[in-house]
Amino acid sequence: MASIPPAASIPRRLEGKVALITGGASGIGECTARLFVQNGAKVLIADVQDDLGHSLCQEFGSPEIISYVRCDVTSDSDVKNAVDTAVSRYGKLDIMFNNAGVSGSPGANILGSDNEEFKKVFDVNVYGPFLGAKHAARVMIPAKKGCILFTSSAVSVCCGESSHAYAASKHAVVGLAKNLCVELGQYGIRVNSISPFTVVTPMMKKLLGIKDKREAEEFISSIGNLKTVLLEPEDIANAALYLASDESKYVSGMNLVVDGGYHVTNPSFAFAMKNLYS
Ligand code: NAD
Repeated sequence: MASIPPAASIPRRLEGKVALITGGASGIGECTARLFVQNGAKVLIADVQDDLGHSLCQEFGSPEIISYVRCDVTSDSDVKNAVDTAVSRYGKLDIMFNNAGVSGSPGANILGSDNEEFKKVFDVNVYGPFLGAKHAARVMIPAKKGCILFTSSAVSVCCGESSHAYAASKHAVVGLAKNLCVELGQYGIRVNSISPFTVVTPMMKKLLGIKDKREAEEFISSIGNLKTVLLEPEDIANAALYLASDESKYVSGMNLVVDGGYHVTNPSFAFAMKNLYS
């Protein structure tokens, strides 16, 4: 994992801002929470993994800077409570990062796809972010500013490699972000999504069925387009930092694909040619 420089040596790009991060107890969300705090933000983590959430906050030792609230993103009252807690604890909400998500089972063909599983994936990956955006907008519209971010996936631009439920849910997230960008622009609220390629997190290790981190990283490197570097949760956190900071003050409606160019290539023809002439 790439190390994040000590707080003193980096400009604090989110100084004075308040962020709520769903799925902030693990993986991309956890990494983003750390980076946001190091950049001066006050962060409220919303998740269903209470122990992980609390222990992350304890590392920083100050609930004035980072704290945890239990929130199942599929529950309207939980999401309402998380947004209200951010406002009551830290005074406002500048950044809503709708990041929590589930992968569901690995890709099955359409006839083998489970109906209830499809609904469950949509509940967490689409309805959850919808609730997050709705409650965030409730407090951001009167403030006439704000930033709403979503974690989509590279499967929103490159298909056929995940379950239908996951791919459809991540397309839906991009559609939601773009539609919101149009409605909320009049209030100075920016709305963007981030679409990561495969990155080693607890979710991805479980999905790949690989326990060893290095083995998982090697597998991902072997399938990625961009060689010699590895996509890490920090890279997605850095994309979120850019989109949450004032450096992107005129960026809205964008799906920032962080995939090393994977979705613009199709190596099938090159592989076929290589085999033909080898
Ligand atoms: P992760 O499992 O490490 O983190 C996901 C977090 O979401 C967990 O802490 C989990 O408890 C939380 N969560 C799940 N359901 C929830 C619910 N109902 N309410 C509240 N919290 C809930 O996985 P990750 O890889 O960090 O995933 C973060 C996001 O990134 C997800 O939206 C995922 O789809 C997306 N993503 C991941 C990858 C990847 O390769 N890891 C690639 C593209 C997109």
